[in-house]
Amino acid sequence: MACFRWGGVDRRTADPTAFGNAVEPRQPPSPHSGCRVSTGRMPAGESPPLPPGETAPSSPGRLVCVTEVARTKAELATALASLEGTSALVMTMGALHGGHLALVRAAREAADNVVVSIFVNPLQFGPDEDYEAYPRDLAADLALLGTVGVEAVYAPEAAEVYPREPIVRIDPGPVAALLEGKTRPTHFAGVLQVVHKVLNLVRPDMAFFGQKDAQQLALVRTMVADLDMPVEIRAVPIERDVDGLALSSRNSYLSATQRIEALALSQALVLGKDAAAHGLPADGVREVALRYLAEAPGVRLDYLALVDPQTFQEIGPDEGAAPAVRLALLAVAAWVGPTRLIDNMEIELHG
Ligand code: AMP
Repeated sequence: MACFRWGGVDRRTADPTAFGNAVEPRQPPSPHSGCRVSTGRMPAGESPPLPPGETAPSSPGRLVCVTEVARTKAELATALASLEGTSALVMTMGALHGGHLALVRAAREAADNVVVSIFVNPLQFGPDEDYEAYPRDLAADLALLGTVGVEAVYAPEAAEVYPREPIVRIDPGPVAALLEGKTRPTHFAGVLQVVHKVLNLVRPDMAFFGQKDAQQLALVRTMVADLDMPVEIRAVPIERDVDGLALSSRNSYLSATQRIEALALSQALVLGKDAAAHGLPADGVREVALRYLAEAPGVRLDYLALVDPQTFQEIGPDEGAAPAVRLALLAVAAWVGPTRLIDNMEIELHG
């Protein structure tokens, strides 16, 4: 792994040209280690700024839960030991936004306790990807979590999670080689490695994942089923900005112009969905979306695929022409400037 040294955090300076002006400085070690960051009532007018797509909490003076930040496995164990009742886990890489908060809210409704992990997992980044540049701001993340209220936060350093290079690895199987896996061949092995580890540490009753990363969600479900892991995996729909852009931590890399250009992804998906609703078969749906993306300024397509939501295999050209309704996933990945974005939409193919 080019951008990570086992047994220690790589202090190598991020390439400032890699992501233009959007490179954010690495945060110094958090002053919050093991301490309370949010207690009692949050005074009106002192709420943190809300991310795109978020509305203000209904009452600014409402009770927020105490958030304990565990930086080590031992601190996490201590925090978990004090919790009573059911627990739900939300795993994130930080740089939190309304999409993450939708997961936290779903978890909040489903369980007595919500545990959030914040960890930029080096194992899921390729050597030329944005591991170093990935936005990190623990203080802002904790402030946002305080608006919903969570019981525990696990925010370890890389050396805590991987004190040495792991020897036993999760093999995510053939689905990991499709779509995202074609461009990011080691990505899902790295994702499942860390998901497995954090599930083992937290032992939640349920864990929440976003439909935004549909292939990841499917692979996590497969891992949990195949390895008999005692956790229920729940999916949360994609949170979008009012103009349709799927919320993503990587949206912070986009310039104002790129932010507008990036709308082509969700717009192409909507056009594909409409085409399907008007009875076009799979190939027609793909063609409509592809034509739109081909003409979209500033967008360089990686893939557009219309796949079975379970197997991620491409749906045959004439499928949808049959009388039965078939559920499909229209998924897209594209670069806008140097930033790679993904999005997807469930669509119904009609006869
Ligand atoms: P990340 O921090 O990007 O690794 O994402 C952590 C979790 O949040 C994953 O389960 C994502 O699928 C989910 N997530 C990220 N963005 C969104 C979004 N816009 N809507 C719903 N879930 C999301």
